[in-house]
Amino acid sequence: MNLYEKTASELSRMLQSREVSAVEVTTSFLERIDQVDPHLKAFITRTAEQALDTAGRIDYFRQQGEQLHPLAGVPVAVKDNISTMDLRTTCASLILKDYIPPFDATVITALKSAGMPILGKTNLDEFAMGSSTENSAFFPTRNPWNLDRVPGGSSGGSAVAVAAGMAPLALGSDTGGSIRQPASLCRVTGLRPTYGRVSRYGLVAFASSLDQIGIISMNALDSALFLNLIAGYDPLDSTSLPGEVPDYTAGLEPGLEKLRVGVIRYGSTEGFDPEVTEMVQKAASLLEKSGANVGEVSLPLTDYGLSAYYLIAPAEASSNLGRYDGVRYGFCAGGDSIEEMFNRTRGKGFGPEVKRRIMIGTYALSAGYYDAYYLKAMKVRTLVRRSYEEAFKKYDLLLGAASPTPAFKLGEKTGDPLQMYLSDVCNITDSLAGVPSLALPGGAHTSGLPLGLQLTAPPLREKLLLQMACFFEKYSEQAPRRPVLDFIEGGSSDEL
Ligand code: GLN
Repeated sequence: MNLYEKTASELSRMLQSREVSAVEVTTSFLERIDQVDPHLKAFITRTAEQALDTAGRIDYFRQQGEQLHPLAGVPVAVKDNISTMDLRTTCASLILKDYIPPFDATVITALKSAGMPILGKTNLDEFAMGSSTENSAFFPTRNPWNLDRVPGGSSGGSAVAVAAGMAPLALGSDTGGSIRQPASLCRVTGLRPTYGRVSRYGLVAFASSLDQIGIISMNALDSALFLNLIAGYDPLDSTSLPGEVPDYTAGLEPGLEKLRVGVIRYGSTEGFDPEVTEMVQKAASLLEKSGANVGEVSLPLTDYGLSAYYLIAPAEASSNLGRYDGVRYGFCAGGDSIEEMFNRTRGKGFGPEVKRRIMIGTYALSAGYYDAYYLKAMKVRTLVRRSYEEAFKKYDLLLGAASPTPAFKLGEKTGDPLQMYLSDVCNITDSLAGVPSLALPGGAHTSGLPLGLQLTAPPLREKLLLQMACFFEKYSEQAPRRPVLDFIEGGSSDEL
């Protein structure tokens, strides 16, 4: 087995026992990137040199007998909306095409101090607005299970990097599903932690009351290992949560007796693939057979949640994106007056979806419409939160789907924004409620494409999500773990 096929925890073990060096591990992933990324396009920027440099230093420190972090020498890919000092951070937007942050996000500081080689920055929908990674200003990313399909979004580059063996771990961001939906479409594990559990300092703001950094990995244990590193209070993020961080890797295999699981009944299942519904039912009966108490929960506001999200997120975005004026950051198109410069810079710098969100958001916040749209949406958000609080009085955990369908075709939804928005229907309400949520492989569709389950827990119960993900990893049917890329590996990739 190649090193790039190993999980982060396997690599961590091998590195600690000095069976392999960090340079060997990093080289294996870099070669894999060279081989498959020209076809998949997961990376916007590659940082091979820096990655090897970090790996070399870690090998040296290990030789010196220094006490190192368990993830020292384990490489990682980073979504390109997370600020990296002296390394361009584009948000897949022309407006930030050449922007080089003067500081590191707190999560980047953490992974640098742990000695994790950074392999590069991954593709996304521009400013994380989208569900397919097709809104990137540079190029779309392809799904490694079928190159004609999207990988999901907006963290599509990170999901593909992990799924195709180009990185054992990746950072993503999730505002309304951007970690969980691509994870499920690419057959990897995606964790959106509780809002505030992981510092958002240095994450380029999209919708600040919803944005959350999280993890894409091959399994629950790897997520736990990585969460141990990045979770915790950060004085630089005023919304970050105080309090102890447990060891997420400890006790991941509990019994299921007495666990109360609520299977989500979606308000409307229009647009759901019947195989997705079947997958959720199968998972529910597996839990029941293993001793859990399984019931049904209807979150009556799942229908309204989507509408509320698509007012709140654009409203916040319209304000957050005001800073790109051609003066303070990145691209400037010039002009004879300040107004002309703003117009030209923003007109050329932002893509169509970003402009659409700015217009929707500005409209929803404008005098005369504020009460009818933004305020109403905020009231719906409060009701969504309450419906979760009620559900968690009866159940320890909620079970549902991570996406209503398997990966759709490239170009299939780009002409119809509403259809694109509907692909987040399973993910949005968790985000509005601020609760932790995890997507994990749930089986294969008859088309061969992966399907994903979604588990949701009360605030700060990430451990429970990881425990349950371990349970499913053990008992669910063994679909192939990795996409077969033999058309690339065999070298017959000319027509791609
Ligand atoms: N797809 C959703 C949107 O377009 C969610 C994106 C995200 O979570 N960043 O807003």
